[in-house]
Amino acid sequence: MSRVKKTHRPAKHSANGRTKPSHMGDLIELFRHLEKVKQQARVLGIFTDDRELLACPSCGLLEDVTAEGLLVTYPKDIKDPKDTGLRFHQLDTESFQCPACGATCHLPTEEELWADI
Ligand SMILES: [Zn+2]
Repeated sequence: MSRVKKTHRPAKHSANGRTKPSHMGDLIELFRHLEKVKQQARVLGIFTDDRELLACPSCGLLEDVTAEGLLVTYPKDIKDPKDTGLRFHQLDTESFQCPACGATCHLPTEEELWADI
């Protein structure tokens, strides 16, 4: 009579030595949520204020934010600023393409902003 001994049972070692503090997870979750909200705001045309407003150096198309927080564009030196409906197209983190003339616009640097004042 032979009995088969099951000797290869997986050992139960607890691997809980390196768990992240739970509040880190909460924070990451919060940032993800914030990013989602911002994305939704952008879809609605709301300017989320996470970059400077653009101005095309070539044709003078300007970005502006209305009292309602909506992002609009209009040509420079216009008497009655009215949204053209055009939006700058983001090329990379600091470059945008002008929707009116196709010129590449760069976000103003800190120095340029100070020079403007
Ligand atoms: Zn332009």
